[in-house]
Amino acid sequence: MKRRIRIRVSGRVQGVGFRPTVYRMAVARGLAGWVRNAPSGVVIEAEGEDAPLERFVADLRERPPRQARIDNLAVEDAPPAGGETFEILTSQRSGDLTVGLPPDLATCDACLAELTDPNDRRRRYPFINCTDCGPRFTVARELPYDRERTSMAGFRMCPACSREFGRPGDRRFEAQLDACPVCGPRLTLLDAAGAGLPGEPLREAVRLLREGRILAVKGVGGYHLCCDACRDAAVELLRERKSRPHKALAVMFRSLDHAREHCRIGPEEERLLVSAARPIVILKTIPESGLSCLLSPDTRDVGAFLPYTPLHHLLLAEVAPLVMTSGNRAEEPIARDEAELRRILGPIADHALAHDRPIVRRCDDSVVRVADGCPLFIRRSRGYVPDGISLRGESSGEGPAADSILACGADLKNTFCVSRGTLAFVSQHVGDLMDPRNEEFFHEAVADLCRLLGVTPALVARDLHPDYVSTRQAGRYPDARHVAVQHHHAHIAACMAEHGLDGSVIGVALDGFGMGDDGTFWGGEFLAAGRGAYRRVARFKPYRMPGGDAATEHPERMAYSCLLTELNGDEDRIARLLPGLGPDLRAALRRMVEGGARSPLTSSAGRLFDVVSAMLGVCGAITYEAQAAVRLEAAAEGVAAAAPYGWLMAGDTLDFGPALREIAEDIEAGRDRGAIAAGFHETVAAACARACETIRLRERLDRVALSGGCFQNARLLGGLTRELLGRGFRVYSHARLPPNDACISLGQVAIARELARED
Ligand code: ZN
Ligand code: ZN
Ligand code: FE
Repeated sequence: MKRRIRIRVSGRVQGVGFRPTVYRMAVARGLAGWVRNAPSGVVIEAEGEDAPLERFVADLRERPPRQARIDNLAVEDAPPAGGETFEILTSQRSGDLTVGLPPDLATCDACLAELTDPNDRRRRYPFINCTDCGPRFTVARELPYDRERTSMAGFRMCPACSREFGRPGDRRFEAQLDACPVCGPRLTLLDAAGAGLPGEPLREAVRLLREGRILAVKGVGGYHLCCDACRDAAVELLRERKSRPHKALAVMFRSLDHAREHCRIGPEEERLLVSAARPIVILKTIPESGLSCLLSPDTRDVGAFLPYTPLHHLLLAEVAPLVMTSGNRAEEPIARDEAELRRILGPIADHALAHDRPIVRRCDDSVVRVADGCPLFIRRSRGYVPDGISLRGESSGEGPAADSILACGADLKNTFCVSRGTLAFVSQHVGDLMDPRNEEFFHEAVADLCRLLGVTPALVARDLHPDYVSTRQAGRYPDARHVAVQHHHAHIAACMAEHGLDGSVIGVALDGFGMGDDGTFWGGEFLAAGRGAYRRVARFKPYRMPGGDAATEHPERMAYSCLLTELNGDEDRIARLLPGLGPDLRAALRRMVEGGARSPLTSSAGRLFDVVSAMLGVCGAITYEAQAAVRLEAAAEGVAAAAPYGWLMAGDTLDFGPALREIAEDIEAGRDRGAIAAGFHETVAAACARACETIRLRERLDRVALSGGCFQNARLLGGLTRELLGRGFRVYSHARLPPNDACISLGQVAIARELARED
């Protein structure tokens, strides 16, 4: 007896070779029917005898394409339609797509084998790709993901490529970006003025890199700036031209084995390095490995990654390791096209290795580190965006159809987030919105993601801060309902959403800044928080921040403010502890702190780390955000456990005054700086865990969610997690998004959605 079934598959099932795989499986089982992309994923109808139908469904579940991820697979009966053949139906453009575009995928092993095979027609072709690999998010102009709507639309396939594309048994069957040296994109080498140079571009580029030149190389989500990673002079020149004196530069290695010659790599780090997302993974360097010591002057870490395009493979085979850092000036958006290339080619890069396949969407590399065996994202962008994150809680089902929400995020490390149904799509890294170019990028990218997802936001969530750029951007949607969300509530809600937590938790938000609901700057907060509401139940003791932002840029000034309070105004001691501050500056700071003018109060935990960093002489002034904390964590490296310093819990205030006084004494006694730095980390972990115990008794909550930029510090995250687990708490930290302000937009969406449901 023949019967027909309809199968609906959702998840990451478009743009990853799903339909060709379905086709091959159906043909192998002798089934008739069709497969097509649909708004919700992929729909299949298959007709045949029971046994092959069952085996077909089992095949789908057990052997989906390598880069696919099936979230749901539902089978139902359908009326028989007869027919002998199985077909791939072309996409229907009607309907609203919620999925359909995977992240960019690193070159697969099969393509790599062709790249190096001297007899293959694509040997050494820098744009080799297949249904398992290649760019996706950065090349799709519109959905559904078909060639005519990608940046390959302008390239006409040659007969050989057309045959592969149309042949169901071929691994390039329906590979939308299929190309070869005859019909596909080509490399060009440009000089500093943007003029094309003669010669074989790749060979010339290799020669220039070997000479120590700086090259702009067109990648997947933008240009990289590249130079020899073992040559101090080249790295120094790149830093100088890019105005980036200290912040770490990423390094690309030829292969995993090559990376092992320079860095220590654990199992989780290896998994991340070779994953199709190919993030930059922060690793410990092996001393004397030959890498330039200017790559990461503040730590013994290096941001390492492996080639993810055929061009990378070809380049790195000749000259490696290479510095590969975002092609931009300072904090501007990464250069994507020819006009933007002009901003870096000349001023920064001596030459550019470019090509004629356009980049549709800008997307920086992702950055991740491993803390206690788990990935800890510092930046989630290429390779992960636009995968959706489910907004469903533990108990809530699908619920009624929800309005789409746009959340504008925070001003630093900005991402925004657009929801559709129960999925939240967090954008690629946008960056610091104070830069007008990033603000422009934000505006374009919001419109772009809304268009891709086919949504018009009915609800717009933004930060409480009235003067934020992201708040101003929210104003561009006057027809939507607006929700203002407190920064640290958003942090905690993001962590809850990632883990599907409902109900209430103790939220520990240790952070730089966010505007509190009392108008002061928060950043060391304990919240009793649900997705809908929160109450602040404890906080770090606030101190004056003399000169506002100036105290962030100069940790010594913040340290002065704290010590003025904690050392009872003993100027002589403060002068010895903070030798970088002259008497005039100290007098000016004192007037500001005591008078309160231009000196807002802050309970920021980030600033407290800055203060200790400044006291230890580790970092008096910063050139990039969180530099003082990065150096403090590095100073504590290699020091095992240290006894915590003192602290006080007075009412709802966690007071680290005793610790600051003891640290001052230890410094005066000439104690080892590493031990002091380690002891301070222990202190914050122990004190926060103790505060959670007090809150547990009062609020009857035993789950703790950790969020905020301070948790990029693996020592703090690990220390506090262990303290909390030891006290019987269930502990949740970010697993899919960074704990820094890049997670704010997801939290804003979760909160806005909850508020809309309560109405
Ligand atoms: Zn491939
Ligand atoms: Zn071709
Ligand atoms: Fe924050």
